[in-house]
Amino acid sequence: MKKLTCKELGGPCDAEITGNSFSEIGQRCREHVMAQINSGDEAHIAAAAKMRNASPDEQKLLMAEFEKRFEEAPCL
Ligand SMILES: [Zn+2]
Repeated sequence: MKKLTCKELGGPCDAEITGNSFSEIGQRCREHVMAQINSGDEAHIAAAAKMRNASPDEQKLLMAEFEKRFEEAPCL
């Protein structure tokens, strides 16, 4: 299992996201961001909007960067 923070995945806070694979972490991160958005957290709303407004190429680069961080994170 590995651990990344919301910040390391492009988010605005230090919440810890854990998972056994990059897709699991991605899924948990989306759930975390959605929960924050549903409770009206401006920083997460802005971060999600920024992701949505990025071009497909930019999104691909960001995802590659996040995946690299996942690969480099130590196993727990
Ligand atoms: Zn967060």
